[in-house]
Amino acid sequence: MTKQTVTANRDLRENRPLWADTSRISVITRQTPRERFYDVVIVGAGISGALMANALADGRRSILVVDRRGPVKGSSMASTAMIQHEIDVPMFKLAQTIGGPRAARVWQRSARAVEGLKALVQGLRIPCQLEARQTLYLAGEAYGARALKEESKARAQAGLEARYLDADELEQQFGIDRPAAIVSKMSASANPAQMTAGLLRDARRHGCEIVAGLEITDLHAGEPVVLATSSGQLLLASHVVFCTGYEFLKPLANRQHRIISTWAIASTPGLKLPPWLSEALVWEGADPYVYFRTTPDGRLIAGGEDEDSSEAYLSEAKLKTKGRTIAEKVGDLLHCAIGSPDYVWSAGFGSTPTGLPMMGEVPGLKNVYAVMGYGGNGFTFSKIGAEIIAALIGKKRDPDAELFSFR
Ligand SMILES: Cc1cc2nc3c(=O)[nH]c(=O)nc-3n(C[C@H](O)[C@H](O)[C@H](O)COP(=O)(O)OP(=O)(O)OC[C@H]3O[C@@H](n4cnc5c(N)ncnc54)[C@H](O)[C@@H]3O)c2cc1C
Repeated sequence: MTKQTVTANRDLRENRPLWADTSRISVITRQTPRERFYDVVIVGAGISGALMANALADGRRSILVVDRRGPVKGSSMASTAMIQHEIDVPMFKLAQTIGGPRAARVWQRSARAVEGLKALVQGLRIPCQLEARQTLYLAGEAYGARALKEESKARAQAGLEARYLDADELEQQFGIDRPAAIVSKMSASANPAQMTAGLLRDARRHGCEIVAGLEITDLHAGEPVVLATSSGQLLLASHVVFCTGYEFLKPLANRQHRIISTWAIASTPGLKLPPWLSEALVWEGADPYVYFRTTPDGRLIAGGEDEDSSEAYLSEAKLKTKGRTIAEKVGDLLHCAIGSPDYVWSAGFGSTPTGLPMMGEVPGLKNVYAVMGYGGNGFTFSKIGAEIIAALIGKKRDPDAELFSFR
């Protein structure tokens, strides 16, 4: 990789995630772009680039997707793929920062995005173990029973189904000992690598070109946008969309966007777990929180133990201790033994104070767009990003664009 580049350059993850050893995660790519001019160049071939390509590929536009590594080689491969409308910051809490009506619109849009993503993947018949799930949000140190009651009311007022459970109901229905929980529907889980690869393969079938091992090193905004590449070739494009995950576009770097460290595990398959878990995603109102779900072959996928450091995830020693701690925490909660995980991996993770991503046209850079700053809802936010930016490029108005804009 070249040193001088227009996006940050970091190790995105450590160790091999479970998904790297699954089938149907490859995509046919080219080594060099076929053309010099494209209607749209998408930088990044993770889930956000894949959804962007899917939203724009209409058979008429010429679209190039480039990735300095290759398809599904970034953070999307590390994801635990709990696809939720429940974003990291509860609605009642988000309302205190951005106002009640706007917080409700963010949550409603997230719910539509999850529905839209499920429908898209099902419609394209992408084999990625997509399953509809309910979510169990447990009271924790950061948000206790009172906060969850307030949260369930806020969600109900916004028309989003949320069933509050007190400690007894939670114990009876799920065997979990916590002061309260919220149960909601609408979520999903999947194999994130298969989903991303499937979307890219579909975009390719609709004429998108995908080039691996090519980095965008510099840009000059305008009509057209001029892009410098690591091979020395210049590319021209009417529109450029940076879908570069946690390798932010440098002009957009600011103190609000932090990279923290996170860890995830996959247990051995065929674990004996409570039957309700095969239909649920579980997370908690704590900071850091632990979260978990199962796969169809009975593995437990769990994550958490976040640290406020952009480097900690690189430590090999931490990989072992964090993996063990996550397994123990989940085991305690479910009253069962998780055992030594088959896979433990770690990664950097983008975080913003509101938990909201930013997406839209980059201020001061005409025809250059970016989707950035995801928290734990990268898949949901990538869908919203693809919709908002596709509307901007198509000169249509998305009523929620200002909720997530850079301004
Ligand atoms: C451990 C972990 C667990 C997670 N769990 C969940 C979850 O349960 N649910 C959820 O919704 N989200 C989750 N996330 C978040 C989610 O995985 C990410 O938000 C999402 O994958 C980001 O996708 P992306 O396409 O933007 O980035 P990436 O997948 O990283 O793709 C960006 C690509 O851009 C390329 N690139 C960067 N700069 C350049 C350049 N200059 N030129 C060419 N190419 C470039 C990179 O090589 C990379 O391949 C999790 C993340 C982690 C790390």
